[in-house]
Amino acid sequence: MNDFNTDALVIRTLPSGDSDRLITLLTAGRGRINVMAKGARSLKSRYMPACAPFVYGNYEIRAKTAAEKGGGELCWLKEAQVSETFREIGRDIVKTYLAQYFCDVVYELTGPGAEATELLRLTLNSLHAVSRGLKPDLLIKAVFELRAAAAGGYEPDVSGCGLCGAECGDGAVLDVMNGRLICHRCMGKNGSADASDVDPFGTRILRVPLSAPALAAVRYALTAPEQRMLAFELRDPSDTAQFSRAAEIYLLSHLERGFSSLKCYHELRQ
Ligand SMILES: [Zn+2]
Repeated sequence: MNDFNTDALVIRTLPSGDSDRLITLLTAGRGRINVMAKGARSLKSRYMPACAPFVYGNYEIRAKTAAEKGGGELCWLKEAQVSETFREIGRDIVKTYLAQYFCDVVYELTGPGAEATELLRLTLNSLHAVSRGLKPDLLIKAVFELRAAAAGGYEPDVSGCGLCGAECGDGAVLDVMNGRLICHRCMGKNGSADASDVDPFGTRILRVPLSAPALAAVRYALTAPEQRMLAFELRDPSDTAQFSRAAEIYLLSHLERGFSSLKCYHELRQ
């Protein structure tokens, strides 16, 4: 037996048995943890408020090494103290799907026992911004996607053209699978701007055009300090659309998967 106490965000909840709930917690120091909350689906359960989606709180956990199951850990919830519920999210179905998408992405990017401080802080900041409507949803989402990709080890090099080294301005494209920019001059020699093709070696070529403001937004999103990550604006909706499209394609292509929460978000926000 080994008891511990940790601040954590609920990123997934699943019913288990008749009245229990299996929750997945994202923690800074221990990564992702699956915890069984006995009786948490009962309205009378003291665990119920702390086992809802997007709740951040302090969790006291009892862990037992399951030697017979290959050394993994079995965890039960002992006590929990809620500190933030992001309650405005639960009142809006579009926000709920967006928040679930953030949680699904960090679930994918983290593992049991892996340090996840940066991803936890990014997710909390993004949930806070969505909950309060601090910026347009598409902008918050794109910043989250780029920073999540970077934290997951897929950071693109956006310092200059990845082929000739020149500064990139208008007419540059994001070469998604190679994680680099290609300037308009090199693009002139190397094919169309918005290509989705396969090269002679079978690698997918995925290029997303970026206007100068959209490129500036990508650079800002990747380099700004955490507390300033949303402190910018894109005035032209077409720039927001390009920025948002590039960020989403970039993250999903590197994760090599889609998310049903994201699909629902897009369907409902139309
Ligand atoms: Zn170039």
